Amino acid sequence: MSSPTFAVHNPATGEVIGEAQRHDEHDVARAIDRAAAAFSTWRHTPAVTRAAALRRIAALLEANAESLAATMTAESGKPLRESRAEVRYTSNYFSWFAGEAERMYGEQIPAPKPEQQLHVISQPVGVCALITPWNFPLAMAGRKLAAALAAGCTAVCKPAEATPLSMLDLAAICAEAGVPPGVVEVVTGPPAPIGEALLAPGNAVAKLSFTGSTAVGIALATAAAASLKRVSLELGGNAPFLVFADADLDEAVAGFMAAKFRNAGQTCVAANRLLLSADIYDAFMQRLVAKVAALRVGNGAEVGTDIGPLISPQAVARVASYVRETLAAGATLRLGQLPADAAARFFAPMIVEGVAPGTPLWQREIFGPVVAVTRFRSDAEALAMANDTDSGLCAYAYTTSAARQRALASSLDVGMLGVNEPAISNPHAPFGGIKQSGYGREGSRHGLADYTYLKYIATTIKATP
Ligand code: ADP
Repeated sequence: MSSPTFAVHNPATGEVIGEAQRHDEHDVARAIDRAAAAFSTWRHTPAVTRAAALRRIAALLEANAESLAATMTAESGKPLRESRAEVRYTSNYFSWFAGEAERMYGEQIPAPKPEQQLHVISQPVGVCALITPWNFPLAMAGRKLAAALAAGCTAVCKPAEATPLSMLDLAAICAEAGVPPGVVEVVTGPPAPIGEALLAPGNAVAKLSFTGSTAVGIALATAAAASLKRVSLELGGNAPFLVFADADLDEAVAGFMAAKFRNAGQTCVAANRLLLSADIYDAFMQRLVAKVAALRVGNGAEVGTDIGPLISPQAVARVASYVRETLAAGATLRLGQLPADAAARFFAPMIVEGVAPGTPLWQREIFGPVVAVTRFRSDAEALAMANDTDSGLCAYAYTTSAARQRALASSLDVGMLGVNEPAISNPHAPFGGIKQSGYGREGSRHGLADYTYLKYIATTIKATP
């Protein structure tokens, strides 16, 4: 018989820091039932009331920032200052979507007949299954939940096995903010049976929103298709970071450090491939090597840590294997050293030059603190290199040429582009990708629309005499 709970570990030390329930398919079915029952009330709760609850959640996140950040660092390994920033970022989504809830406008359409009225209203889709990864344990959950609740949906949330505690904290805050029972359900435990139960044809789940790997996203979308549940997918990325000869190099290096090393490189929008103009290659690399060599690796809970552990020793081994294969294909190691043993939890920042198309550091999402560098000689070559990937989440480009900025904006095959800007994600803007990075958007009015459907109503006016 399986244990009713499972342990949560600190990836920096391996020690057990907590536990979560090992829910099975029956628990999931009950959670869906509670969410469906709550939906019948929440959907009709006035938007201003839902908005007020979201604002209280935002305020409680801020008020509890220190303890939320400590838990997040303990279960995910990220530096404490990044955890604090993630609490603020999550809170911002609740504030933003509180406003969006109040602006869920409809439309009036000019009717073809004089006695007719045509109008369109936005309706909440229903119970949503929200499946989230370990790299942003609070933000990925909050970003989905804020939009779902604003729209009038209820949710069954499934956090990653490595990091369930932040999601449980968030659910407790929702309850404290007065969100009615059943509106936010959380299920934790082994992913495959929970995923199957969440997507079972005939259940009350109307929509899946998933953030995670492309392989799992495709499997879940396939399962959801059996009963036409709606799907939003935010999957892996392989962001190119382009630096042109006319860029401000100090800003470009600073931007790259921010886009590459947050959460030790374990982000879907991380700069995966650094593409440098041959004209500024040496100047850029000189600045970059100095900055990367100065990064401090350590326990995320310690002050001054820049790079925490990777999520697991398996993750360290996977990144090391990408580096080994790429070096074997002819790339060169400029900075860093591979971890000495298979049980390593930390991966020191590394720079690999001459990374060729087709090698793992070029093709795969690295999800670690490894800089993969290549040089280009023309704009056409830069663009071809940047688009040489199945992923289409985001790209970054540094250039002071307005013509280049325009050309890149129209020709890079991505859902998001940062031009002279490494921090692209905020609640005001639609976050999401194309190609194998998925579909659907989070944040902005488009993020709210993902949790609604349009209902069109044709009325023939019948006046009572
Ligand atoms: P990562 O590589 O970031 O761990 P995954 O796609 O494996 O990405 O995990 C993202 C989320 O998807 C986690 O919550 C994980 O538990 C969940 N997950 C993984 N496999 C399945 C599955 N078969 N069904 C449902 N959820 C799953």
